[in-house]
Amino acid sequence: MTFRQFPTTSRLVVASHNLGKVREIGDLLAPFAIKVVSAGELGLPEPEETGTTFASNAVLKALASAKAANQPALADDSGLAVAALSGAPGIYSARWGGPNKDFQAAMARVEQELSGLPDRRAHFVCVLALAWPDGHCETFDGQVHGTLVWPPRGTRGFGYDPIFQPDGYAMTFGEMDPVEKHAISHRAEAFRKLVSACFGHP
Ligand code: IMP
Repeated sequence: MTFRQFPTTSRLVVASHNLGKVREIGDLLAPFAIKVVSAGELGLPEPEETGTTFASNAVLKALASAKAANQPALADDSGLAVAALSGAPGIYSARWGGPNKDFQAAMARVEQELSGLPDRRAHFVCVLALAWPDGHCETFDGQVHGTLVWPPRGTRGFGYDPIFQPDGYAMTFGEMDPVEKHAISHRAEAFRKLVSACFGHP
């Protein structure tokens, strides 16, 4: 399979208004000489996430920004899938935070829905979509598996990080140094695939 190459001297729009994600994508892009600007900084509208999968929502967001900015755009659609909740909140992870993006409340809802259920397995999913203004788009995915803990621990990261302890670690993502999270996260895995497919041949 041949992927369209991203010229690493170009500017890339990060199609997200989520500051936690924009920060992590900026960290992951730091080793490359790519100028990054976020959809928020450009004042681009945030499209409604009408897709039914992570991939369809990532594509919808990347294409909307690429077309509006007339530049390549990278979108991330991600979320937490809890095994005992049949994969919920899944694509609704952001929406469980409500209009105020209250993730203390979203984490408490996960815990409440799990009460009495012994199975604490969960995984994070990330789909990255890289889109061009002509409508071309590539997607890459990543996952990280772990266990949910209660009460939440740590103040680093964002979203559901304080209740997610990745397999093989005694710390939650909320307690972990960002450098360590970036080595094992769902976003980092998707990013490694994107880099080797699209940034490999400058
Ligand atoms: P969306 O992709 O904009 O629909 O939002 C994804 C939501 O999933 C975020 O708002 C977070 O709540 C959650 N999420 C995605 N990735 C992470 C992560 O790395 N840590 C914690 N929460 C995450």
